[in-house]
Amino acid sequence: MSRVEKIVSTIVNLFPREKFSSDPFRILICTILSQRTRDENTEKACAKLFARYSDAYELAEADPEDLYELIRESGMYRQKAERIVRVARTIVERFGGKVPDNLEELLQLPGVGRKTANIVLYHAFNQPAIAVDTHVHRISNRLGLVKSKKPEETEQQLMKIVPKDLWGPLNGSMVEFGRRICLPIKPKCEVCPVSGDCEYFLQKRR
Ligand code: SF4
Repeated sequence: MSRVEKIVSTIVNLFPREKFSSDPFRILICTILSQRTRDENTEKACAKLFARYSDAYELAEADPEDLYELIRESGMYRQKAERIVRVARTIVERFGGKVPDNLEELLQLPGVGRKTANIVLYHAFNQPAIAVDTHVHRISNRLGLVKSKKPEETEQQLMKIVPKDLWGPLNGSMVEFGRRICLPIKPKCEVCPVSGDCEYFLQKRR
């Protein structure tokens, strides 16, 4: 097992995350709702929204203001409501009501970036994809897996070194690892199971 595989497997096994089990449209919309909020807020907002609207066609007809109360708990609810309705309309008008199953078309949806698109590709379509957010970017650089300034560079570099079967699970597990152990300001290196392979930790000790 390579050093990279050992590190990523350790993190994935430490914080295993289940694959989302719902339809692609719900996965896409709930991923948009999850931006800059906690999981429990996302889950509540997502459940309320889909209790009222069941698919892209219904949401495409909605007025964004009608969504405010349903998704308020997810934060930034005005912007998210606008984006969700625009995404639903684009899916209906350009993609026949179905969420695209490829990166190029997902990136054509309003406000959908590489991170969201890659989450959808993995969870909704079972395709290998690495979603890089601030946690994955920070941790990968600290560990010395990559040397990059931007999340997109991190994604490209990780794709070259991480075994494909770990691409999808990497995001959820690394996010949790970043929230609990490899914190942005004061990482808890003393309890970290991959400290022996971490460039940041080894440099600090020198
Ligand atoms: Fe993060 Fe410290 Fe673990 Fe390195 S040793 S991955 S910096 S918590």
